[in-house]
Amino acid sequence: MSNTPVIPHWINGERREGAGATSPVFNPATGEEIAAVSLATESEIAEAIATAHTAYESWSRQSVARRQAIIFKFRELLNERKGELAEIITREHGKVLSDAMGEILRGQEVVELATGFPHLIKGAFSENASTGIDVYSIKQPIGVAGIISPFNFPAMVPMWFFPIAIAAGNAVVVKPSEKNPSASIWLAELWKEAGLPDGVFTVLNGDKLAVDGLLHSDQVASISFVGSTPIAKYIYETAAANGKRVQALGGAKNHMLVLPDADLDLVADQAINAGYGAAGERCMAISVVLAIESVADELIEKIKSRMAELKIGNGADEQEPDMGPLITAEHRNKVAGYIDIAEEDGADVVVDGRGFKVPGCENGFFLGPTLLDRVPTDSRAYTEEIFGPVLSVVRIQSFDEGVELINSGAFGNGTAIFTNDGGAARRFQNEVQVGMIGINVPIPVPVAYHSFGGWKASLFGDSKAYGVHGFDFFTREKAVTSRWLDPAKHGGINLGFPQND
Ligand code: NAD
Repeated sequence: MSNTPVIPHWINGERREGAGATSPVFNPATGEEIAAVSLATESEIAEAIATAHTAYESWSRQSVARRQAIIFKFRELLNERKGELAEIITREHGKVLSDAMGEILRGQEVVELATGFPHLIKGAFSENASTGIDVYSIKQPIGVAGIISPFNFPAMVPMWFFPIAIAAGNAVVVKPSEKNPSASIWLAELWKEAGLPDGVFTVLNGDKLAVDGLLHSDQVASISFVGSTPIAKYIYETAAANGKRVQALGGAKNHMLVLPDADLDLVADQAINAGYGAAGERCMAISVVLAIESVADELIEKIKSRMAELKIGNGADEQEPDMGPLITAEHRNKVAGYIDIAEEDGADVVVDGRGFKVPGCENGFFLGPTLLDRVPTDSRAYTEEIFGPVLSVVRIQSFDEGVELINSGAFGNGTAIFTNDGGAARRFQNEVQVGMIGINVPIPVPVAYHSFGGWKASLFGDSKAYGVHGFDFFTREKAVTSRWLDPAKHGGINLGFPQND
C-alpha cells in the first residue's frame, strides 16, 4: 500500500524514517493495515545506541533539581494529554478506550513515583564508623538501559521502567512491539516537549535484529524485557552472558481459587473482569478458575449468565463495548486452536466463542468469550498460556488440591483466592509459589511503590519491575570510606589490615 504511513524510529530527539524493511501494523478491530513500522538496520541500531550513550554522559551529570523538574513536566503533560495516547493504543491494540486509559493511569503511577527519586536514590551515611572515619554509599546511574516490550501494554510496560531509569540519570532505548509501536513515538515526543535532552529517550523499532543489537552492544548496560517465556529466557541468558544487568518478565497462567464460603456473585463478576478484560491479553488475566466441586455448578451458571451480557466490538466506538478483538488474525487462530485442543481432550465447551463475528467488523480479529468446564489438567489447554478470552474451570475437592495445582505449573506470575475465611487466605498467601497474590482481588497488580514481578518461568533475573527494585536496578552503588585527618593529631605509618578500634 503506497499511502500507508511509516512509523519511524526516534533517534537523537527526532523522528527518523528507517532505511530498511518494514512490517505491517493493523487495526485489529477492522483488520485493516493502517501503517507500516520501520525495522531497524544494523547501522540504525548502532547509531541509536551511540546517541543514547552520548546523551547519558551529560544527562547523568545534570543536577537532581533539573532532572526532577523535567520528570514533573512530563507527568503534567501526560496527565493533560493522555486521551490522545489512549486513542493510539486502541487503534493499534484493539482494547477498548477505557481500558487503554487504565493502562496509561497505571503507567502514570510509576512516573509519579519517579518524581520522588531524590529520596529513593540518596544513599546512606555512617559517621565515625571507625575513629575519624566516615563511610557512605552513593547511587549512580548505570548507563544506557534497553527496554524491550510486548504488544499487550504498549504504554504501561515501557512506563514500568523508563521513568525510574531516566530519573536516576540513565538514557533509555525502547524497543516496542512491532505490532503497536506508535505509543512509544508519542511518548518520545512528549519527553521532548517536557524538555528532556535529545538522545536520553530513544525508540528503536524493529524485530529480533534490533533486540540482538541491544543484547550484544558494549554500550548497553541493562536490559528490561517483558514478553513470552521462551523469549524472556533467551533474553536473560544472552544479556547475562554479555555481562549486562537483566530483568526478563515472561508469560503466565493465573489461577483463581474459589472456596465454598466465597460470595459467588462477587466471584462471578471478578472472573468475568479478569478473564475477558482486554480479551484476556493481560499477563495478570485469570485463565483458570479452580472451583470446589460443591459450588462449581452454581458458579458456572453465574459466570455464563453474565457472559451473555458482554458487548464485543470495536473498542473505539462511541458506545464502548466491553471487549475488543485479539491482536492479530494469527493469534486469534492460535487461541481458537486451544479451544479445539481442550474439547478434544474432553473438556465441556460451555460457551463457545469460535466463529463469533461482529457486524460491520467482519474482518476484525475477534473471538467470542469462551468458557470451558472440566478441563483436564494434562491438556495443553490447561498447562500452556493461551492469552485470549478463554476461561477454564477445573473442579477440585479441596483447598490443598488447589494449592498443589497452582504450585505444579510452570508459571508463577499472579493468583487469587476468593473466600471469607481469613485463615485460609493467610495459608494461601504463605503456601503458593507465586509472585503476586490477590485476596478477593482478581488482578493484583501492585501499586507503583511495591514491585511487580512473578516467580518461576514468569521472571528471569533477581529484580522485579518498579518500586524499590526499580531504583536498585537502574542505579549502582559505590561505598566510600573517608578519613579527614584531625589537624591536631598525627597518624603515623601502619601496615596492618584496616580494623575497627
Ligand atoms: P513476545 O515474546 O512475542 O515479544 C516481546 C518482545 O520481544 C517484542 O518486542 C518482540 O519484538 C521481541 N521478540 C519476539 N521474538 C523475538 C526473538 N525471537 N528474539 C528477540 N526478540 C524477540 O511477546 P508478545 O506476544 O509481544 O507479548 C505477550 C506475552 O508477554 C505473553 O506471554 C504475556 O504473558 C507476556 N507478558 C508478560 C508480562 C509480565 O509482567 N510477566 C506482562 C505483559 C506481557
